[in-house]
Amino acid sequence: MKFPPQSRPRHLVLVLGDQLEAKSAAFDGFDPVLDAVWMAEVAEESTHVWSHKTRIALFLAAMRHFRDGLRERGLAVHYAALDDTPAAGTLAEELLSTASRLTPQKLIAVQLGEWRVEQSLLAAARQLGLELEIRPDRHFLSSREEFSAHAKGRKQLRMEFFYREMRRKHAVLMDGDQPVGGAWNFDADNRESFGKSSPGDVPQPIRFRPDKITREVLELVAKRFARHPGSQAHFDWPVTPEQAQAALHDFIEHRLPNFGKYEDAMWSSGDGLFGQPYLFHSRLSAAMNLKLLDPREVIAAAEEAYRKGRAPLASVEGFIRQILGWREFVRGIYWHFMPGYRELNGMNAQESLPNFYWTGKTQMNCLRQAIGQTLEFGYAHHIQRLMVTGLFSLLLGVKPQAVHEWYLAMYVDAVEWVELPNTLGMSQHGDGGLMASKPYVASGKYIERMSNYCSGCRFDPAKSTGDDACPFTTLYWDFLLRHEKFLAKNQRMAMQLKNLARLDTPKRKAIQQQATQFRAVCCHPTVAA
Ligand SMILES: Cc1cc2nc3c(=O)[nH]c(=O)nc-3n(C[C@H](O)[C@H](O)[C@H](O)COP(=O)(O)OP(=O)(O)OC[C@H]3O[C@@H](n4cnc5c(N)ncnc54)[C@H](O)[C@@H]3O)c2cc1C
Ligand code: SF4
Repeated sequence: MKFPPQSRPRHLVLVLGDQLEAKSAAFDGFDPVLDAVWMAEVAEESTHVWSHKTRIALFLAAMRHFRDGLRERGLAVHYAALDDTPAAGTLAEELLSTASRLTPQKLIAVQLGEWRVEQSLLAAARQLGLELEIRPDRHFLSSREEFSAHAKGRKQLRMEFFYREMRRKHAVLMDGDQPVGGAWNFDADNRESFGKSSPGDVPQPIRFRPDKITREVLELVAKRFARHPGSQAHFDWPVTPEQAQAALHDFIEHRLPNFGKYEDAMWSSGDGLFGQPYLFHSRLSAAMNLKLLDPREVIAAAEEAYRKGRAPLASVEGFIRQILGWREFVRGIYWHFMPGYRELNGMNAQESLPNFYWTGKTQMNCLRQAIGQTLEFGYAHHIQRLMVTGLFSLLLGVKPQAVHEWYLAMYVDAVEWVELPNTLGMSQHGDGGLMASKPYVASGKYIERMSNYCSGCRFDPAKSTGDDACPFTTLYWDFLLRHEKFLAKNQRMAMQLKNLARLDTPKRKAIQQQATQFRAVCCHPTVAA
């Protein structure tokens, strides 16, 4: 049934690009005769960080599909498209323009995914003299308040304890009050690499051919954001809830059984085409972060696969831990510590991000593969982000805010509540240990063990000095030397510092000299490393 759109809506419900959920609390009490929806594509959301073309296209395509779905249900949607003229530059400007024309009695939104956006919409509402009612976000299993209650009085926040609380509270993988299989965590079973043999025939994820709406968006992005990084040539992401469901079932059936075992492994096909970007990963983060997919359904589908004997417990527990544990935990950290969190720089890192992060042009094969794949698809899996691109910038000493802006720009799943704690906290140790109990540092030997990257590289991961020394290995020892005093306070770094103590003075000097030279070349914007 179609309803006539009201010229003056009672409530204007604001829906942002990462809030594409029909059952969102923002729609509670929505009256199609009295109320209307506001959605806006604005340039600033693609340019405040230099966003990857695929990331921009995914948000816009999913928004347009959501808009059409609402209209088909008879809802009045005031939608500002980027190709409308004149287009407003920011969400606040667009809201000011639409709301002052429509003069609703009240604005309603669900909690935002980014502190900056929440503040700007609140400021716009104040300017309009309107109430902006911000409702809790039911998409998440833990509310901002529940996380703050968990954090209260704790000296240290650790994901593992939070995760156990969540398992109990939501009765996930539990037998009564005990964890299924007698342990909370099967991480030790989840660290395998492919060794020297290839991963073989990994089932390729289901692809979604762009329809007319998505093709229009791709054209718009190609024209309007031509100078932005990345390619959109392979665009195949789910852009509707139905497609997101299909992607979930495809993963559960074909890749979940091997997810845990090879979760940390990396592999390049050696043909320059980044042959195995997804391996056994789910590729569901973007669909969940845009709210096309409910995390409860994802968790339930994985648990069911275990209960029905279709996937081993180590895989299922490892997968569920990422969603019920890490995903909820990082959101809690973000809202508990913002806005100060974004400015933290616990390791006092001041270097700039090397240029090759935007081009992939470097002789270091692991970085060439991880960045090249990111430029090509807007995707890299967790270990590529943490232990290749993230590790390198940490060892180099790049300012965490510069690293944060790169990750926020480059990945299809990047929304600040999840990206910032992962980058600044987990990967760069910029929060001084709020997120992670120790800096994730390793030499090139780790990358050699977990991938086939080193076999196609001109550097040798075993060497820390000399022309063919692996820069990761040089910078790893240099990092330990630079931060020895700080790291000595951390019991979990004892083994790595014990190994450092074995290096004699001439070796230390040679490493530091090589690291300084390398850093100067790498962080100098006009010289390719
Ligand atoms: C430096 C850095 C930046 C990151 N930035 C983002 C980001 O912007 N957006 C994002 O969604 N994830 C981010 N992650 C976490 C993780 O890398 C991605 O969620 C994952 O690679 C997405 O691919 P997938 O869906 O195939 O995940 P899978 O490996 O299949 O994992 C399943 C799901 O678990 C969740 N998950 C896994 N790890 C994490 C984590 N550490 N934090 C939160 N959720 C997690 C995701 O929703 C993911 O879809 C980042 C990690 C690092 C180290
Ligand atoms: S040798 Fe070093 S730089 Fe080359 S791929 Fe291995 S870890 Fe990366």
